[in-house]
Amino acid sequence: MIGLLGGTFDPIHYGHLRVALEVKELFSLTEVRLIPSATPPHRLQPAASAQMRSEMLALAVKNHPALRVDTRELGRSGASYTVDTLASLRKDFPDESLLLFIGADAFLHLTHWYRWQHLFDYAHVVVMTRPGFMIEVVDCFFSERLVHAREALVQTRAGKLFFQAVTPLDISATAIRRMIAEKQNPGFLLPDAVIEYIQQNQLYQARSSSSTHDV
Ligand code: ATP
Repeated sequence: MIGLLGGTFDPIHYGHLRVALEVKELFSLTEVRLIPSATPPHRLQPAASAQMRSEMLALAVKNHPALRVDTRELGRSGASYTVDTLASLRKDFPDESLLLFIGADAFLHLTHWYRWQHLFDYAHVVVMTRPGFMIEVVDCFFSERLVHAREALVQTRAGKLFFQAVTPLDISATAIRRMIAEKQNPGFLLPDAVIEYIQQNQLYQARSSSSTHDV
């Protein structure tokens, strides 16, 4: 089974890294692919370029071979739709179970994603808890796919929904960008190598260039 964690990663932080490692172990995944979005369709555009966000990801996972950076979205033009990414991964891994991991915040907007029902044609969707975001009810499309045991995800390659509690880390890229813009030290929220990269490239200095996840 292969895990997939897509995101803007603007920048990558310990919220992303900790959950990636945790689900790798919980689901006995061979690897977790971190997939930076080139042109996210559902939000303001990232402050850092796709190339720079990928470079920060590479620095963050350097000593963790099971966490891999997958830059396939950077090679496509137009909006980076997850359903297209999953179709491309399915071609590369025809026989594997693919697990798409998303945080509870992302799940709350899932029905606005392009061709969202078709995500389940290519992968299972695993929703991870995230501080500040509660999922109280799921509609019938989701409840029909919901399973309560991880083993159920091994039996088919795609199509199921699962909820997974992970260590609650109230870290967001929005808050990190804001701290940097306000000249506060973001230490211990993201890897030192990423902080150094941000300093060297003078990223996130101007508040006006940052997107927020509450817009
Ligand atoms: P921003 O603040 O810019 O919106 P973010 O911190 O939410 O960014 P993203 O790159 O948008 O980070 O997140 C990628 C994926 O990781 C999403 O599915 C998101 O829900 C999940 N995620 C991010 N941070 C956490 C966290 N602290 N705990 C659990 N899941 C997280």
